[in-house]
Formats: sequence, C-alpha cells, structure tokens
Amino acid sequence: MPRPRACLEITARDPESRGRTGLLQTAHGAVRTPAFVPLATKASVKGLEPRDVRELGFDMVLGNTFHLMTTPGSDLVQEFGGLHDFMRWQGPIITDSGGFQVFSMGHGTIADEVKGRSAQNGGAGRDGKTLKITEKGVAFRSYLNGSRQFLGPEDSMRVQAELHSDIALVFDECTPFHVTRNYTDRSTERTHRWLERCLDWHEEHGPDDQLVYGIVQGGVYEDLRQASARVIGESRCDGIAIGGSLGENKPQMYQVVDWATQVLPEDRPRHLLGIGDVDDLLRGVELGIDTFDCAMPTRIARHGAALVPDPPNRWRYDVTGSPKRRSQQLVMDDCPCPMCTEGFTVGYLAYLQRIKEQTGPRLLTLHNLAYTARLMADLREALDAGRLGERIAELRAGDAPRVFVDADGRRYPGAPPMGAPVAFG
Ligand SMILES: [Zn+2]
Repeated sequence: MPRPRACLEITARDPESRGRTGLLQTAHGAVRTPAFVPLATKASVKGLEPRDVRELGFDMVLGNTFHLMTTPGSDLVQEFGGLHDFMRWQGPIITDSGGFQVFSMGHGTIADEVKGRSAQNGGAGRDGKTLKITEKGVAFRSYLNGSRQFLGPEDSMRVQAELHSDIALVFDECTPFHVTRNYTDRSTERTHRWLERCLDWHEEHGPDDQLVYGIVQGGVYEDLRQASARVIGESRCDGIAIGGSLGENKPQMYQVVDWATQVLPEDRPRHLLGIGDVDDLLRGVELGIDTFDCAMPTRIARHGAALVPDPPNRWRYDVTGSPKRRSQQLVMDDCPCPMCTEGFTVGYLAYLQRIKEQTGPRLLTLHNLAYTARLMADLREALDAGRLGERIAELRAGDAPRVFVDADGRRYPGAPPMGAPVAFG
C-alpha cells in the first residue's frame, strides 16, 4: 500500500494557535487527539489492568521495543498473536524504536536532557553500555547479562513487526544535548538515512496494517531541526514524531517543538516523545502536537505523588512525610477518580507508601491517569468549542480539569468514552 497513508482526520482547528483536534485511525480503532498515551513499557501499565486504562478513557498505550525484545522477546510475543493478545489490550498500541534506550546507555543523560532537566544521575542505562555506533546500527552490552547485542534500523522494524503494534517508530539516533553542532548534524543525517532503510524494510516485510512514524532530530539548532522536519515531512512515513534533545529547559524545549511544527505537513499526525508534564501538555497542544507519551503520571504515583491543580508546585502533591500522617483530607477535592471517590485519605496513602504496600501506587496511578485523561478531554472540548486559549489560561492559573458526566449525570473518572455526548458535572 502506498505511503504516506491518510490516518489523521482533523476535526477542528484553533484560529489563534496551531492546536487541532482529530481522529487518528489505526487498525485497532481511533484515537481522539490531542491525546496523552500512557506507558505500557513492559506490556503493562504498571499496577493496572487494561480495563482500568480503558475506563479512564484512554484510547492508546505505548509499548517499549527495547524492553520487550529483551524480555520476553518479540518472537515469544508473536507466538501469542502479538502484543495486543499478549497483554489483553485491544485498543491502539504505539511502540517506540528502541533507539532511545540503546543510545541512553552510551550518552548517559538523554532522559534528563530531553525533558530540559540538568542531569545529575548517571543516566538510564544502568550497567548497559553502548559499544559502537556505525552506519549499520548500534552495538551495545545487555543490561541483563552483559552479552553483546546489536540493534539497527531493520532489526528494530522486525521486532516491531513481531510485536505487531498499530504504530511503529523508525530507528533513530537520539542525539544528546552535550554534543557539538557538527555531531548533531552528522547524526541527524544518519537518522534520515536510517528512516529510508526502515521504510524500505517495512514496505517489503512489515504488516500492512501497521503505520510507521518518522522521527525529527536536529538537536537545539533551528536550521537543523527545520531541515530534519522537512526531510521527515517529505518522506513516505505516515506520521511524525519529534525526538532527541529538546534543550536544557522548558522555554528551549517549547522553542524546539515550535520550530518543528512550523514546517511539518498539516495532514500528518505528530507525536512528541517523552513529554507529559501538565504545563508541557498545555503548550504542546497549542503548538499543534497530536499525541504525547510520558512516564511522569505513572512514575510519580509510584513515588507517592498525586497530580493536583497546583501550578506553583508543578501540579504535584506529595503524600509522604510525617505532617501528612494524620491528614484525613483527600488528595484533591471533587475528583471523580476511583481513588478519591472511595474516600482514601492522604494519611492512609502516606501509610501505604511508608510500608511499601502496592495498593498505594495503584490508587495514585489511577488518580494521576484520570487527571491526565480529563485534562486532555477538557482541552479537546475547549478546542472544538473555539475557546482553547481561554481554557489554557484558566488551567495555567490553577483550574482543575473539568469532570464529564453521562446522560444520567453519573461522573466519568477520566475522559468520557468515545462517542458519548459531552456534558459537564
Ligand atoms: Zn482522584
């Protein structure tokens, strides 16, 4: 089937920004955009079942190619009929290419750099190591047993074909921030050559119903970013992801995304890799991003933090700490999520966290994902109603995401299900 395929139907545009709402069509159904995509890194949204994720109103999850090819192995997942059947999630799935993890081992601090944080720790690679980057691909040592491994464009596409995700990402070099402009330039050129190899492999061997996204690189340099966005935009890929180092702070990250979406083709879906703080989602939607993925809502839940409408505290509330032990308050007033509607108090959550009882992270994960689902549904509704700018200003000022209700006035925990009429409680 010739590429690119028309997979995004744009349903409304914001006249004052690049924001748009739409429906992204995949082999396992549609994704309402703009959307947040929860991480199912190791074929599970940590602590939740697929029905939990569905009931929060999410349409798509993200699986991690690198982790799944290591354990249990993409060939084993294929024996189970692919990732959907293996993890029992029948909605859309996007898989990353594995490039981010493989390069994180060598470059060390990409995870921090991508998010505009200054890097303090040793990076995400643990004991793994990138041994060599060549035109063919990347040799690295397994973080599991130290054995020598190799991942190149064709391998990444083969693994994702075996996983049979709805959207595969091409293999790219996730260029870090601390390298020279010259290195960024050469690395971006190589990513463009790898894009063509990924598309060639996929055309010959890949599943017909799997979409392929290219990845814009180019570091923090305007000309390189825009040149990369043009190359990817003119390629055969069905959609476009923005990756690599997005700068050393949030203003620079927004600038880099702005450069890219200025020149990307209007008609193809755009995914922003690894970004999902509340303020980043607000700005990203204004800049014309359609989908986001990020570990933040689920990761901070496991560390005892809840998302709350408190911009000065980065929309976070930490339930741990001794002053919280006797608190009989809820994490957030008027929250329709499964945790808050059951009346679980801050003091109880602090206690669960202290004794490392797994119910705590599960409850906070439900709350944080429900918050994020409502936030995105709120933005979609505002955009459709022609008041995106106004709504974003209210949310930046500390408004909580709105609560959606069904025809009988029952409150949805997160986003309403697809096709349900929009009403607020
Ligand atoms: Zn809640």
